[in-house]
Amino acid sequence: MSERFAPSLPLHAVPLKDLRRTPIRLNPDSVPRATPVLQDRLHRPLRDLRISVTDRCNFRCAYCMPKEVFDKDYAYLPHAALLSFEEITRIARQFLACGVRKIRLTGGEPLLRKNLEELIAMLAALRTPDGQPPELTLTTNGSLLARKAQALKAAGLQRVTVSLDALDDDVFRHMNDVDFPVSDVLQGIAAAQDAGLAEGAGLKVNMVVKRSSNLHEVLPMARHFRGSGVTLRFIEYMDVGATNGWRMDEVVPSAELLSLLKSEFALQALAPDIPGATAQRWAYVDELGRPDPDLGEIGFISSVTQAFCRDCNRARLSTEGQLYLCLFAHQGHDLRSLLRGGASDAELAGAIDQLWQGRSDRYSELRAHQSPASEVAEDGGRRIEMSYIGG
Ligand code: SAM
Ligand code: SF4
Ligand code: SF4
Repeated sequence: MSERFAPSLPLHAVPLKDLRRTPIRLNPDSVPRATPVLQDRLHRPLRDLRISVTDRCNFRCAYCMPKEVFDKDYAYLPHAALLSFEEITRIARQFLACGVRKIRLTGGEPLLRKNLEELIAMLAALRTPDGQPPELTLTTNGSLLARKAQALKAAGLQRVTVSLDALDDDVFRHMNDVDFPVSDVLQGIAAAQDAGLAEGAGLKVNMVVKRSSNLHEVLPMARHFRGSGVTLRFIEYMDVGATNGWRMDEVVPSAELLSLLKSEFALQALAPDIPGATAQRWAYVDELGRPDPDLGEIGFISSVTQAFCRDCNRARLSTEGQLYLCLFAHQGHDLRSLLRGGASDAELAGAIDQLWQGRSDRYSELRAHQSPASEVAEDGGRRIEMSYIGG
């Protein structure tokens, strides 16, 4: 926790809804953009929209929602502050018009949002300007997946990514900090596979590696998922938000993990599958040294040691309709006020266009030059929490 922040201000006493938002001023004289494809100031297109559907979660992973902060007194968003499914769908439609091709639902824990299947069906019915459905996916802690996988698939969800930090039950219960058993998440993964929620690149499991908590679980996780149809991806523990007490010595660089994995498995680097991909891919190889599709692959998301801002094509919409142009942003842009203030579709799309064109965020690339206290900006703004903005 930042020294500048801790003494006078208990973190749970600062409701996220009270964080300052930037009002969006529509530019009545906006001129058509110079390029047919919407690009930001670093020439990055807008392709990926992550929508947080709730700021609540049934887990208390210490790297995301530490118990001491997200306790019974924590001020979660009231229901009226949340975007309705109709509002989310209307905004998503404008994002598709601006170039978005992939929509990921996240949170908090997205499966806690009531009737989420209805939202999925509404989003699945949207079309890009060239008539294609958006790629529709969801990130979940897997706790409710066994129950919901079939309904999610039936509603039009194509894929899920499940977060799982350990196979050992004691380690997992400790990491989720609510004593949730690993067997239920494994059942959820199996149910998602059975339901066909592994379209295209297949089902992914994300493991955040924290040196003192679960480094010793990396090889057991790799052994378990190798050849299972699941792509395991290792995420470097990030300095996101302002509450998780992040320390660099808890980060396990992907290069170190790769050496560890190579001590047991033969691996070969693969090219990125899509532009702007977050993960570096490695294939398990057969005895002739060729990538073996039956064994599958693993991935590394190295947002601390190897920044990938250069290709970052992601925008994030918070539960209450604030648009964030970077995971590490201090402020959101208030799309909800625009929406509820009667803006037309063209005005909404114009606002998104205008904001994206002004974007120059590249926090991870700059991180090396920033002090850890940068969780508090010079103007006093606090970096937004992962549970509010989504992963
Ligand atoms: N609750 C869902 C879940 O856990 O999958 C979705 C939301 S969660 C915020 C999205 C992703 O962010 C998860 O894969 C989680 O592991 C990751 N995450 C959260 N805090 C993180 C941190 N400090 N560093 C790296 N990844 C983090
Ligand atoms: Fe909840 Fe996901 Fe954050 Fe864990 S990482 S506390 S499951 S939102
Ligand atoms: Fe994108 Fe910001 Fe992450 Fe860089 S730090 S990859 S700009 S979200």
